Amino acid sequence: MQVRPELSCMKCAAFCCRMAGYVSVSRADIRRLAKHLGLTVRAFEEKHIVEKTRKGEKRIKRGYDACQFLKGNRLCGVYEARPKDCRGYVCWDQDDDTVYRFAEFYQHSVARVRRDEAEERRKGER
Ligand code: SF4
Repeated sequence: MQVRPELSCMKCAAFCCRMAGYVSVSRADIRRLAKHLGLTVRAFEEKHIVEKTRKGEKRIKRGYDACQFLKGNRLCGVYEARPKDCRGYVCWDQDDDTVYRFAEFYQHSVARVRRDEAEERRKGER
C-alpha cells in the first residue's frame, strides 16, 4: 500500500464521509451510537441502519452516498460515538486513492485561492 503525504482533515470538505465506501457498524458501535443519540438499540436500527448484507452486516452509510450523520459544517454529528470503521480511516493510506485525490485537489485549490486573495488585499492596501 502506498502511503501518501498526510492531509489536514480539518481543512477538508469531508470527502471520506461523502464518497468513501460503506460504513459498517458492530453491536458495540450500535450500542454506543444509540446511547449518544438517546435512542434504544431497536429505535436506532430502525432509524439509522440503511443497509443489511446477506451475511447480516449492518451499515449506516452506503458506498458513495454521503453519510446521514455528516452535518452542514462538514463535521461528524456523532463524532464522539462514531463507528470503529470511521475511527481508523484516513484517506492517505488507502489502496484506492480516489478520496485522497479529491481531498488533495480541494485543499490545494482552497489554499491557492486564499493566497491569491491575501495577495490582492496586500496590493489594495499599498
Ligand atoms: S459517522 Fe461521522 S465520521 Fe463516520 S462517515 Fe458518518 S459523518 Fe463521517
